[in-house]
Amino acid sequence: MQGLNQNDTICAIATSAGEAGIGIVRLSGKEALKIADKIFIPKNGKKPSEMPGYTLHYGHVKGVNNKIIDEVLLSIMRAPKSYTKEDVIEINAHGGVIPLREILQLVVSKGARPAEPGEFTKRAFLNGRIDLSQAEAVLDIITAKTESSLNAAKRQLDGELSASIKDIRSDIIGVHAEVEASLDFTEEDLELLKEPVLGKKLDIAVAELKKLLKDYPNGKVLREGVTTVICGKPNVGKSTLMNRFLKHKRVIVTATPGTTRDAIEEIVNVRGIPLKIVDTAGVMHTDDEPSMEGVRRSKEYMESADLILLVLDSSDALNNEDINVIETVREKKVLVLVNKTDLPARLKIEEIKRYFENKKIIKISAKKDKNLDKLYNIISDSIWSGEVSSSNQPVLTNVRHEQAIKESIVFLENVIAELSTKGKELIAMDLKEAINKLGLITGENFTEDLLDEIFSRFCIGK
Ligand code: GDP
Repeated sequence: MQGLNQNDTICAIATSAGEAGIGIVRLSGKEALKIADKIFIPKNGKKPSEMPGYTLHYGHVKGVNNKIIDEVLLSIMRAPKSYTKEDVIEINAHGGVIPLREILQLVVSKGARPAEPGEFTKRAFLNGRIDLSQAEAVLDIITAKTESSLNAAKRQLDGELSASIKDIRSDIIGVHAEVEASLDFTEEDLELLKEPVLGKKLDIAVAELKKLLKDYPNGKVLREGVTTVICGKPNVGKSTLMNRFLKHKRVIVTATPGTTRDAIEEIVNVRGIPLKIVDTAGVMHTDDEPSMEGVRRSKEYMESADLILLVLDSSDALNNEDINVIETVREKKVLVLVNKTDLPARLKIEEIKRYFENKKIIKISAKKDKNLDKLYNIISDSIWSGEVSSSNQPVLTNVRHEQAIKESIVFLENVIAELSTKGKELIAMDLKEAINKLGLITGENFTEDLLDEIFSRFCIGK
């Protein structure tokens, strides 16, 4: 996204592709109203550029040779009261790829530039309407997989995290200012730099940052989900269990970018936790040379899994095939599911316990829906770490924010340890670093690369 002209008027289809009741083409920038004047025939005869903000107008979009492209409603949001703080026009057309594309081509021919992914939100950030962590929250809202994920994202968009970071950062800026001021004084005057007082202020800042970090594992779960692999030898009931997960829960099927259909993940909502279930059975069977490649890939998934559900068949004695799978997963975070407990038991639980001393073993019947509620509870308990955050503390959900806080703490702890021994210049430098790291979260300081990395993950039109 580097080098893009921020003065361009940008445009995009803001709704998702495919047939729908309506679709929206969005324009933002200095020329948005003028372009609207050129393509819109208003029913009331008034040009969009003459209309006030927050108004909606009925009319038609006309193309080359005055051909009517669609009947539309056109909404006007004038700068600075818009998503981007620029003039924004939204053309609500009939959904469907063809009319929307025609409208898009038309506005491009009148001087707008197709927007890059996330460019509308990037402008909202650059124009000061939201800060960086709020911009990231917009993306999290779009991609939220459960109600709880959505709540965490909404609170971040509301600025809870930003406010907390800004407070802590401003306290550190205060300390930094005092240290800088003391640089101008001689040793005798150093009364000013009261180390214990400054140290205490920094202690408080570190404690608050650590409090935010403490909840990160839970926040990460909400934002990114938990990669879960169901494994076990053939016929133990993996697909049946998978279907149970899918039937009762909201399902979104997402293909991971850059991968083929073998990495299709089903996202299911278990007690508010987005579980990304990777179907290893699918992996095994997608290849023409099934065995080796399939096994290698399913092992890869197990390696990267946050949670493994190992399925064993209660009606069948343990055999080498089971033991092979057990050996692969026994050191990992695994729940052992003894399935088919509605049938006469031939599997000896004692034998399994030998392999899994401290792991949970849960008896279920996927087919008869037995103990699955208990399984969902156990999954949820094993994923949430410690107390799940109370509602009055912002939840840290983003690995980038976690990293910035951790780095800031390192600098602050250095300063605290060496406050009375280190040269004041060095202390001032470390404090500055700590301040800058926190500034990366809210975007008080940022690099183009960082912006590119964040906004390239957005969809076009947002
Ligand atoms: P997979 O190969 O591990 O995916 O196993 P499937 O889910 O395809 O199940 C294999 C067979 O076991 C099917 O006939 C299922 O109906 C049956 N099955 C799965 N779970 C249960 C269960 O809890 N009880 C009983 N009695 N049969 C089950």
